[in-house]
Amino acid sequence: MKVPLLDLRGQHQALRPKLLEAIERTIDSQQFILGSEVEALEEEISKYCTTKFAVGCASGTDALLLALMALDIKTGDEVITTSFTFFATAGSIARLGARPRFVDIEPRTYNIDPSLVEAAITPRTRAILPVHLYGQCSDMDPLLEISKRHGLPIVEDAAQALGAEDRGRRAGSMGHMGCFSFYPTKNLGGAGDGGMLVTNEQALADRLRKLRVHGGATEYQHDEVGINSRLDALQAAILCLKLKYLEEWSAARRRKADFYTELFREADLSIELVPPFIRSEARHIFHQYVIRLPRHRDEVMRHLSQHAVGSKVYYPVPLHLQKCFTYLGYHDGQFPEAERAASQTLALPCFPEITEEQQRFVVDVLAEFRS
Ligand SMILES: *Cc1c(COP(=O)(O)O)cnc(C)c1O
Repeated sequence: MKVPLLDLRGQHQALRPKLLEAIERTIDSQQFILGSEVEALEEEISKYCTTKFAVGCASGTDALLLALMALDIKTGDEVITTSFTFFATAGSIARLGARPRFVDIEPRTYNIDPSLVEAAITPRTRAILPVHLYGQCSDMDPLLEISKRHGLPIVEDAAQALGAEDRGRRAGSMGHMGCFSFYPTKNLGGAGDGGMLVTNEQALADRLRKLRVHGGATEYQHDEVGINSRLDALQAAILCLKLKYLEEWSAARRRKADFYTELFREADLSIELVPPFIRSEARHIFHQYVIRLPRHRDEVMRHLSQHAVGSKVYYPVPLHLQKCFTYLGYHDGQFPEAERAASQTLALPCFPEITEEQQRFVVDVLAEFRS
């Protein structure tokens, strides 16, 4: 038996005729960038996220960059974020000449620890950028309170969390703007790069629509310097079709996650293994099913790979220790929970089409591990 970390074949097989129809329709329309397919997806995503507006762009990374540009983040500014995330979160801050101000994570959820945020605020702080890691929302209430008290906008990095909720509120809808990615391995993945921003503020939506087309209010009339970050019609057509199944897929992901956790409870493991923690206020959509192995993580990974079970570390180097951020002056040991998570966590195969037999096999292989 082989269990890849992610296998999209089942999803694509089921949708194949509809996917090909959407691609043909787009090609026949000759409208390849923005246009009606993108508008239709924006409409559906804003409904799905319960926000007033949605603005398509070229990637999740660009969504973050555009959100920060719309807030006028610039050289000398600081943006507070988590050290334990995908590079793009902090990369987008640095790209604008601003300084990522990292804080540590909560060890159970791996999300930003809200109790550490206020101490990181300085006179240069311009925004807070929490990440909803692995498909579970950050604890937003304390962050929203800090946001209000200090007049700091919140940009949600919801790239892994389309459809996740915190206290009944959809990911991306709680802060000033929410950023999504349609990278092929995300829960709603395209056939290439793609991204989306959501917001409830008309002024921000208008600004984002300009910024994504070089800052032009109309063609060849530029109010400001923007970037080229448009969503392809082909991606929008494919994503619009897949979005109809997202609720079903998210429910399946949660069932698969629960099943793993149940199997781990029953299994006779020789090593300590901490299954994912689900906050009682959260609707977790399990972009990743991530376990913590306080000891022997790397050996376990090798053992899984020897038995054809895929696994991956998200993320092995916390951002405060990345070479490109040496100039920020952070040091080893500064964010112990992020550093521990980077050395102890492991994502296991968990996707809507994974079978019960495959999941049992993964757990059997783990139970066979001897250190
Ligand atoms: C995927 C991801 C991004 C970037 O999205 P791209 O579409 O790959 O540019 C940003 N933040 C997080 C947390 C992500 O997982």
